[in-house]
Amino acid sequence: PRDTVDVVVVGSGGAGFSAAVSAHDNGAKVILIEKEPVIGGNAKLAAGGMNAAWTDQQKAKNIKDDPEIMFKDTMKGGRNINDPELVKILSSHSKGSVDWMTAMGADLSDVGRMGGASVNRSHRPTGGAGVGAHVVQVLYDNAVKRNIDIRMNTRGIEILKDDSGKVKGILVKGMYKGYYWVKADAVILATGGFAKNNERVSKLDPKLKGFVSTNQPGAVGDGIDVAANAGAAMKDLEYIQAHPTLSVKGGVMVTEAVRGNGAILVNREGKRFVNEITTRDKAAAAILKQTGKSAYLIFDDSVRKSLKKIDKYIGLGVAPSADSLEKLGKQEGIDGKALTETVARYNSFVTAGKDADFERPNLPRALNEGNYYAIEVTPGVHHTMGGVMIDTKAEVMDAKKQVIPGLYGAGEVTGGVHGANRLGGNAISDIITFGRLAGEEAAKYSKKN
Ligand code: ADP
Repeated sequence: PRDTVDVVVVGSGGAGFSAAVSAHDNGAKVILIEKEPVIGGNAKLAAGGMNAAWTDQQKAKNIKDDPEIMFKDTMKGGRNINDPELVKILSSHSKGSVDWMTAMGADLSDVGRMGGASVNRSHRPTGGAGVGAHVVQVLYDNAVKRNIDIRMNTRGIEILKDDSGKVKGILVKGMYKGYYWVKADAVILATGGFAKNNERVSKLDPKLKGFVSTNQPGAVGDGIDVAANAGAAMKDLEYIQAHPTLSVKGGVMVTEAVRGNGAILVNREGKRFVNEITTRDKAAAAILKQTGKSAYLIFDDSVRKSLKKIDKYIGLGVAPSADSLEKLGKQEGIDGKALTETVARYNSFVTAGKDADFERPNLPRALNEGNYYAIEVTPGVHHTMGGVMIDTKAEVMDAKKQVIPGLYGAGEVTGGVHGANRLGGNAISDIITFGRLAGEEAAKYSKKN
């Protein structure tokens, strides 16, 4: 029958497609369901790269790296609360995952550096294409080539189990067909995170109330509920990656170092409103109080030259510039006259060595050199580290750490890989490695059941 398969994959992000392709290649008949009308989830939006160690791409560039260093970097970045067994898989499978993607047609030949990595290991397409969109496209093309049954607008609602507790399928809701069961011996949850769901986010971390999110609309966490209803245990849900200055234009986090090196924050009225280098939560709360719930990081070429990262923001098109503050204001919708006065006043504080308005403790440089830049920022939630508890075979576990037979999880829906903080480049690495692993394990399991 049409709705009976070996493996159902829920979610069409990088984890879901990796799982579907790998389950298929391990002999399983697969259906992949996606509740949204478009494929790709957040994976498609990822701009960084795919972390991997010991790759041919690194060797070609004489980069010395090994999985041990990647393991250590990831644990340190996650403040050592990561599940070390999962991190071992992440790092030791990473080369295999890059090779797997490359064999399917991906270009991951450019290797760059991301925060928290001790060497260059962030693999991405040469020429600056977004890694997430590229990886999702390659996986999608491969799924289509294999005739995998992909059902859009179809939401996974409830896991179906038999009397012995084994997974037997999933209740889904199709936009046109309504509710129906898909029967399968194994279900892989690859439903992503919940950063777009501020109610859920702020319940777990009240400091994040009112934050926007970089995520796609489907990232609300209903997959977490599906898992919880099936008896899955959760891990590290309270660790949510957020930032007071997220670029409104590009959805990238703008590092605190931009402020640290001298940028000021102004509102649309062209006025400063906070000590720019206060704590993250205070900066975020102050920005949310401004007109339009956003503010602008203003700086000049002297700040730009002091920090290499800024060129990346300029390259991404999120830091427009002009040769005067007046023009910049006009261009970006900030009161240019007030902005000019504000910067002059701020520069006088730099000369005096004292911020008479907001007591900003560091005043590294005056803003009066070359071009001026404005990055519109607002506090945002980017990634949810926690989620469903899995073991080293991507099997979902219950509160007693017993495996729920036939239930698998991969990607952002799971917790443990990233600990308290995910390193840039580890999301794509996570979804490919654990998606592929979940697909393989689920296919093997379905053969036995
Ligand atoms: P990952 O990066 O872990 O692969 P993504 O966010 O890229 O995660 O993808 C998750 C996908 O799962 C999204 O496209 C999302 O719309 C989809 N999804 C979430 N919950 C459900 C659900 N209950 N049923 C079907 N699809 C879902």
